[in-house]
Amino acid sequence: MSTINNLKIGVLGGGQLGKMFCIAASNLHLNTYILDRSADFPAGTVCSKFIEGNFKDYDDVYRFGQQVDVLTIEIEHVNTDALLQLEKEGKQIHPSPSALNIIKDKGLQKQFYKEHQLPTSSFELYDSKEAILDAVNTGKLSLPFVQKSRTAGYDGKGVVVIKTMEDLDKVLATASVVEPLVAIQKELAVIAARSPKGEVKTFPVVEMEFNPTANLVEYLFCPANISESQDKALHQLAAQIIETYDICGLLAIEFFLTTENEVLINEVAPRPHNSGHHTIDSAHTSQYEQHLRAILNLPLGNTENLQAAVMVNLLGEDGFKGAAQYTGLEDCLKIDGAHLHLYGKAETKPFRKMGHATVVDTDLQSAKRKAIHIKETLKIIASESK
Ligand code: ADP
Repeated sequence: MSTINNLKIGVLGGGQLGKMFCIAASNLHLNTYILDRSADFPAGTVCSKFIEGNFKDYDDVYRFGQQVDVLTIEIEHVNTDALLQLEKEGKQIHPSPSALNIIKDKGLQKQFYKEHQLPTSSFELYDSKEAILDAVNTGKLSLPFVQKSRTAGYDGKGVVVIKTMEDLDKVLATASVVEPLVAIQKELAVIAARSPKGEVKTFPVVEMEFNPTANLVEYLFCPANISESQDKALHQLAAQIIETYDICGLLAIEFFLTTENEVLINEVAPRPHNSGHHTIDSAHTSQYEQHLRAILNLPLGNTENLQAAVMVNLLGEDGFKGAAQYTGLEDCLKIDGAHLHLYGKAETKPFRKMGHATVVDTDLQSAKRKAIHIKETLKIIASESK
């Protein structure tokens, strides 16, 4: 007889990832506790209990952790000191706070790959804008390069591409990682899952297409259009990375496939990820259910796709800020194979992730046409413009 139904599963963060995780947990009739600033956030309506607080605050995280049996996250930027203390007291926490401390700092992440001889681009760490400008002036750093804030970035914020001397004005005044501009052929991602008993499974490789203005994922294609040997290599590497981090739960790994066909790790996230949304509608097991199975030490589910899938992020329309309104929804609901997921964020702003749609089809090209149609039809606006 299983006793998991009595467990209280705590999640730090109540955004869309927390929401979809709670829905998966609810299918197994499990109790989910969410910690975030407002019960109006996406997970507020679907969790068993919402606790208002700040996941960056030591006391809020510590008190929250004491109320639950297993603790996980939907965002990396949480108070890991409180998690380390809870772990010392015997709390089950996935991912481990020590792995989280590495991952939430892009500088430590890059050092980790270097130390473990995992493939990533070369890099240097800088403490300030002045140090970067100095390195350029003395010829130690050459253009073009990409600067990434070590701790403050997400969804392309905190990342700047410096190609010309004029671009140097854009250098961010923050401790950062600086990498050469990689000649990217494709951006790919693999989500790996690992349970405490050591079972590891990986989801099919996905291919991501970015919105050039917002620098965040717009479309995602599954399966990725890559060779069999590349596919095999990526699965093996993903399994090796999750083992090396010693993480239980999910680890989403973003890769660059270079124009020279080299695979480089860009960055990882130890939690459900945007690049796995489609699994809700296209795979035997969703990433959210897999995360749950992994952190509870249950058998991991089948990760295969049932159908090809295209996921499109539904972003707040540029030029609008305020109470969200959805136009074109009914038209999109008529499309065969289209699954709409709206997160319920009260306020829209330009390029904010407000929902996503997954189109499943026997044919990837047909799914892509439908996804483009959804992108053009479903608009998230506000009554006032920005
Ligand atoms: P975030 O954490 O905000 O997603 P990333 O480090 O993934 O930031 O960078 C965002 C995007 O910027 C990447 O998906 C890629 O398109 C581009 N990018 C990042 N690093 C490089 C690089 N070294 N060379 C070329 N493009 C890069």
